[in-house]
Amino acid sequence: MTVSQHPHPFPEPSTASYDVLVVGGGHAGVEAALAAARLGARTGLISFSKKGLGEMSCNPAIGGLGKGQLVREVDALGGIMGIIADATGIQFKMLNTAKGFAVQAPRCQSDRHRYRDAVVAHVAQACQRYDLEVIEAEAKGLLVGADGKRIDGVVLGDGTELRGTATILTTGTFLGALMYRGNEVEEGGRAEEPASIGLTGALANLGLELGRLKTGTPARIARDSVDWTAVQPETGDHKPSPFSFSSFDDGDFVPALEQVACHITWTNPATHTLIANNVHLAPMYAGKISGTGPRYCPSVEDKVMRFADRDRHQIFLEPEGLSTDAIYLNGLSTSLPRDVQDDFLRTITGLENLEFQRHGYAVEYDYVLPSQLDPTLAVGSIAGLYLAGQINGTSGYEEAAAQGLMAGTNAALWCAGRVPFLLERHEAYIGVLVDDLVVSRPTEPYRMFSSRAEYRLLLRQDDADRRLVARAHAIGLATDVDLARMEARFNRIDAAKERLKQAKLRSFSGKSAADVLRRPEITLDVLESEHSLDFTGLTRADRVTLEADIKYAGYVKRQQEAVMRAARQEGVAIPHDFDFKGLEGLRSEAVEKLADLRPQTLGAASRIAGINPPDVALLSVHIQRLRTRS
Ligand SMILES: Cc1cc2nc3c(=O)[nH]c(=O)nc-3n(C[C@H](O)[C@H](O)[C@H](O)COP(=O)(O)OP(=O)(O)OC[C@H]3O[C@@H](n4cnc5c(N)ncnc54)[C@H](O)[C@@H]3O)c2cc1C
Repeated sequence: MTVSQHPHPFPEPSTASYDVLVVGGGHAGVEAALAAARLGARTGLISFSKKGLGEMSCNPAIGGLGKGQLVREVDALGGIMGIIADATGIQFKMLNTAKGFAVQAPRCQSDRHRYRDAVVAHVAQACQRYDLEVIEAEAKGLLVGADGKRIDGVVLGDGTELRGTATILTTGTFLGALMYRGNEVEEGGRAEEPASIGLTGALANLGLELGRLKTGTPARIARDSVDWTAVQPETGDHKPSPFSFSSFDDGDFVPALEQVACHITWTNPATHTLIANNVHLAPMYAGKISGTGPRYCPSVEDKVMRFADRDRHQIFLEPEGLSTDAIYLNGLSTSLPRDVQDDFLRTITGLENLEFQRHGYAVEYDYVLPSQLDPTLAVGSIAGLYLAGQINGTSGYEEAAAQGLMAGTNAALWCAGRVPFLLERHEAYIGVLVDDLVVSRPTEPYRMFSSRAEYRLLLRQDDADRRLVARAHAIGLATDVDLARMEARFNRIDAAKERLKQAKLRSFSGKSAADVLRRPEITLDVLESEHSLDFTGLTRADRVTLEADIKYAGYVKRQQEAVMRAARQEGVAIPHDFDFKGLEGLRSEAVEKLADLRPQTLGAASRIAGINPPDVALLSVHIQRLRTRS
């Protein structure tokens, strides 16, 4: 699908009532609004700026380990992140290709301005097709129903009241946000943008538990100020892999934009000394920020202090786009004062003469503890209120998009009195994400990793369409074209599988080509070049799925059996008045967590961070005893 790069004018909002109101036009909000509109809901998307929809606040990249799988699932469910990423990518890479298919993940470097403009254009087009309006305004408050247990819409900054049967908040890093750089503190959700102030109070008044998290971003520097001869180039894949299943419609995927290199350099002992000598000036270390930051994506000052034995840390120099000369310094997130950044960055090879376009900074913001949500991402105690994205304590565009799509879908289904759309942990990374959020209390920003998915062999990035398109089509999220594409693809793959089973290879004692393909050293390429098998008609994506299906068949079967076993345990209900404290032998940490979160089933208990299989086994025995007694 081609995405126009030129923003369309948005129609004027009619200010009538809506079925679904979405607050925030970031990655979560856009997917939420589009999903709700696709399902026929009259939808209003309120955001600070119409031109800023889909803005990339931090790194100019989509995908990555665990995240690339989420994007492919969002695409299979009819979302736009994959399509936009494919249209605006300037370097594509499949990660982990040396490892198994289950942990491979697509990533691309994006032209961030083109990405945002393409999102704006896409939403503007959707306004023509669906009952969707974009309202450029600040949401300042919530319209609370008379019983205090229902949200009826949103109050805008100028006092206008917009009615919504369901309201989805996707305010990202903007709630009560403060930006820090050394001693400098200013209100704002990201550089040069305001904070969202009123909504925190509105949420607290509803009795919701809120917390505070922080994240940071590195400096942007001018391209011409880098010594490119001193840094190491890193190019993308020779044959790029797209995110969207629709990107294979024209045959092989050819990126629309010119492809560019990123570059690598390293910090060194001089950098580390300067950082260590000034670390007391970083707001986290000076005790000015109370929020916890992402452990897996630490600031450079955290890296230097926590890994004092390391004498260098890798830095990626990533271009922010083709028509900007801004370079993003991936790996150097910092909130140290400007003068310290001036000094320590110039100790790095290639950056000795750098010119700053913007210094790094940290942002601290409010989030809502997601254990207060149900699996539709609705707030359990308040009818009509949904939350998605960074407001739920997650981090990352992909996690936000996935939640937005689920919240938008479920809000629209709820308005129409239809059954919710839920995904289980063995069906999708999105199922893992939502389940992790609603059963746990994240104390640091949550990001997806493939290690979070216990059934990851069933959740490959290449077959997200097989797992999800038919389900999305059944509720109206995916189109007939999406369904036909997926069915045609798996007809081709199944036919090729059959041919592999029938073909006997003499040089392997007459074994079938399918059996031979299970050997680690044999690939489809080998069967094609050395054994004259013909795979004409299969796309590159088909070949990956075919090969992975055959090589993984045994493991997949075992994992499916594990899913069935877990399903039996999953459904075992824990009585609502169960006395965890009186359960002899249960570790005190487990007692505390279970008593606090009160999971409804053994399955939910087993996934609480800090609850071990022996805790669940003990619980299971006691519940069994209670049942036989009663
Ligand atoms: C400084 C910084 C550093 C970051 N670092 C990283 C990182 O290292 N790694 C990573 O994975 N992620 C990082 N992120 C987070 C990443 O940007 C988010 O995870 C992602 O953008 C979340 O998407 P979202 O849709 O939830 O929110 P956002 O993309 O933040 O979008 C929120 C939207 O809501 C709008 N909005 C907010 N409040 C209101 C209101 N009251 N009324 C109307 N509109 C409103 C905003 O204008 C914006 O359009 C960083 C973000 C920032 C700001």
